[in-house]
Amino acid sequence: MPAGRFTASRAASIHDLREFDEGIILEQIEKWGKQGELQHVTSWYGLPAEITVENNLWHLVRVAGVPLHHPPVVNLILRRGLPEEARLRLSFLHEFGHLQTLPLAIAHVLILLIIGRWRRRGFLGSLAALMTAALAHEAVWELASEAYAVTKAGQDYRRIYRRHPNPGGQVLFWGSMIGIAIFATLKLLRR
Ligand SMILES: [Zn+2]
Repeated sequence: MPAGRFTASRAASIHDLREFDEGIILEQIEKWGKQGELQHVTSWYGLPAEITVENNLWHLVRVAGVPLHHPPVVNLILRRGLPEEARLRLSFLHEFGHLQTLPLAIAHVLILLIIGRWRRRGFLGSLAALMTAALAHEAVWELASEAYAVTKAGQDYRRIYRRHPNPGGQVLFWGSMIGIAIFATLKLLRR
């Protein structure tokens, strides 16, 4: 495996660490997702991409040079109070999650476009519907990506948050994203 090559199995290698102690184990962990370092990744469906962890707030996935934009809502809300290393690692898994769950996000958008109520809305109505669809899409994709990070980090996800509790941020993220995803999706599908 060439240096800097990142795969799902490598992302999951943190799983193997039975005892998680930030002081000791963080030094031993392979430094994937290092700041400013470009990582080449491949999704489960074969799409190659690049991930850069620019800083605590900004992370980027590029597919064929095209950035997959999404608001840094997770890093602002969910990672508050976490030490930098844990934050960067979870952010990297989250970004990789965006790539891994892209088919799900596209399927959701297609469902909205195909069976959503788009006709007889008028210009402003259509504009509002488009914005609602964009919101629903962002929320679903954020949820899917973070669910991916939770699954891949496994025990360590819980350990990190047990050690650095952020109940307000967690409730705010999961509550608002689930609420927006359900409400906005239903609003478009309601006939
Ligand atoms: Zn995200």
